[in-house]
Amino acid sequence: MTKIRKSEPRAPLKVPRAEHGVSRANISRNALKVLYRLKDAGHQAFLVGGGVRDLLLGLQPKDFDIATDARPEQVRALFSNGRLIGRRFRLAHIRFGRDLIEVATFRGTTPSQGGDQEQVFHESGRIIADNVYGTVEEDAWRRDFTVNALYYNIADFSIWAFAGGLDDLRARRLRLIGDPETRYTEDPVRMLRAARFAAKLDFDIHPDAAAPISAMAGLLDDVPPARLFDEFLKMFQFGHASASYRHLRRLGLFRHLFPDTDRWLDDPAGADNALMIERALENTDQRVAAGQPVTPMFLFGVFLWRAVQARAAEIRAERDDQSEAQAMIVATAEIGTRQAQRIALPRRFGFPMREMLQLQPRFENRTGRRAMNLLSHRRFRAAYDLMLLRASVGEVDQETADFWTAVQEQSAEEQRQSFGAAGRRRRPARRRRRSGSAN
Ligand code: ATP
Ligand code: MG
Repeated sequence: MTKIRKSEPRAPLKVPRAEHGVSRANISRNALKVLYRLKDAGHQAFLVGGGVRDLLLGLQPKDFDIATDARPEQVRALFSNGRLIGRRFRLAHIRFGRDLIEVATFRGTTPSQGGDQEQVFHESGRIIADNVYGTVEEDAWRRDFTVNALYYNIADFSIWAFAGGLDDLRARRLRLIGDPETRYTEDPVRMLRAARFAAKLDFDIHPDAAAPISAMAGLLDDVPPARLFDEFLKMFQFGHASASYRHLRRLGLFRHLFPDTDRWLDDPAGADNALMIERALENTDQRVAAGQPVTPMFLFGVFLWRAVQARAAEIRAERDDQSEAQAMIVATAEIGTRQAQRIALPRRFGFPMREMLQLQPRFENRTGRRAMNLLSHRRFRAAYDLMLLRASVGEVDQETADFWTAVQEQSAEEQRQSFGAAGRRRRPARRRRRSGSAN
């Protein structure tokens, strides 16, 4: 066991500039500006967390977070472009155009490391407010993984590593600071972060950190759905969706995020659906790697598709006066609402997702004006991509898929012929270019 006890030394390992590879050339100008301004005002200032970790790994950090002994009010006073925000934590946000630098004041110890009890805990043991200020040592010990407790000191460019973070970084493993069960109870999202960092960094989850997850996964059910949406984005929209998904499934976490999806994944009749999901995830990762835009509504729709289909079939079996289109509307609403209790997909994504799913039956109809009008539906692009995905697993005839691919290249006149649409059209069907997937 490698549990860290209170009696263990808390002093950091300090690695001087000459002995590590983190160079100021790789730190954003704005982050450096903030670090220097804090230092020049007499404060301690460190780059911390994922930024340091990623720089040591030779990766480009997603963002730069700064930790300081200056209080939030002092930070704000130093920057005209700064403002204080905070739900769980009070932070200063310093804005430079589109770039945002987050500055946090060192926080105090958590009871799991034997500190005092000034944080606000939910009766379940979850931390709901955490604004006890402390020293850099204390700040380090309340972070999640040892590789996230790395600090780059702007005063002399040294790296301060707490809790064996550098050893774990070299061994490419994720180890929680402190007792894993306590740390997951305090914040169940740390389980998702384990899966996410394992995926993003291609690290192993230390057995001590992995072991409690299957029994504790249910704690995710109490995490606010809005916070889970933030985590969803980080897991699925930043280029490592496939790997995140594999870890989430392996650890028994996925079913707490998408219960209606997970149910079908374990059903032998859901094999096509599982394949479809894997392809959508790979496609999303490829798009991110190629710098193409992605939208969370597409993966959400793919995840929910099988459940929506099944529910729509059930509705039609119960009531034979329901058209397929009506059943789809009811099914997408029901499944969408149930999913929203787990992960809050903002409305600007939820509506398009439902439309994308509801349009699926319309691809089966290839004649007449209504069929042709599908081409100019505002959700055609995404619905078409989903239809292609369904065709790739045999759920839609290849001939049907090819038809919809071909008509997009045709002139208005050719389209009229393809659809056999008689008479005058009210709106001309817009001609669309065929490009990559819309997700
Ligand atoms: P990335 O930015 O690549 O997603 P990161 O490690 O920077 O990874 P952030 O979510 O940006 O992750 O958080 C910054 C730092 O804050 C982390 O490195 C970690 O030290 C700390 N942290 C974030 N979330 C938690 C948490 N739930 N519990 C404990 N510490 C956390
Ligand atoms: Mg970060």
